[in-house]
Amino acid sequence: MTRKQFILLGLALCAPSIGHAQAPARGPQAWGKVPSIIVLSQGSDPRVQLVRDAVANWNRIFSEIGTSFRLGLVTQAIGAVPASELGAMSATLLSRSGPPSLSEDVRQWPGDLIVVLSDGMFVSFAARWPDSEKAVVAIRSAQGPPLSLPNVARNVIAHELGHAIGLGHNGDPTMLMCGRPAACRPDAFASQDQRYFPLSGDEKARILVLYPAGWKSR
Ligand SMILES: [Zn+2]
Repeated sequence: MTRKQFILLGLALCAPSIGHAQAPARGPQAWGKVPSIIVLSQGSDPRVQLVRDAVANWNRIFSEIGTSFRLGLVTQAIGAVPASELGAMSATLLSRSGPPSLSEDVRQWPGDLIVVLSDGMFVSFAARWPDSEKAVVAIRSAQGPPLSLPNVARNVIAHELGHAIGLGHNGDPTMLMCGRPAACRPDAFASQDQRYFPLSGDEKARILVLYPAGWKSR
C-alpha cells in the first residue's frame, strides 16, 4: 500500500503521554456509498448500544443539515482484531511514520466500516483505506478511565465516527471534534448528563462539501 492510497482521518483525543499532531487528510475524504457498519465485540458490551446511538445521532445531523448521505445498517458480530495489532496501528498513526497496513484481521470482516470494541489500552483511532472501501474505528478498553467516566465513551465513539466520515480536529474543548494538536482529551467529555458534544458550523459546512444535498450512493 502506498501512502497515496491511504487517508488518515485523525486520531482520537489521544493519551496525554503520547505526542500527536493530526496528519493532513490525503486524497478523497468522502464515502461514495452508504457504508455498512459491523460492530465487533467479545461478548455483551454496553458500547454496542453506544455505537448504534452514535450512528443514529450522525444520521440525525445529516438530515438536519440537508445532506442525503447516511451511515448504513449496523450489524453486530462476536469477534475481535488483536489488541496488539490495534495498538501497533495506533502507534503508527501517532508517530506519523506512515500509514498502517490494512491487515487480514480487519479485511476479513464484511462491513465497510468495522468498529472494534477492544479491551486493549491503545489510543482510540479511525483509519480508512478508500481503495479497498474499508475503514476501521478502534475503541480502547472502557474498563478504566477515561472511557469509564460518564458520557465519555459515548462521545469518543461519536468522535471517531466523525473521522470515519471525513472530519478532522478542531481546537474547541466544548466541541465533539476537538483533538490534537489542541489540548483536549477524552475526559473533557465527562458529564453527568448523557449528551453529545456538538459540531461547529464549519464542520457542518464541511460535511455539506463532502456530501452535498444531492449526494447519491453509487
Ligand atoms: Zn480525533
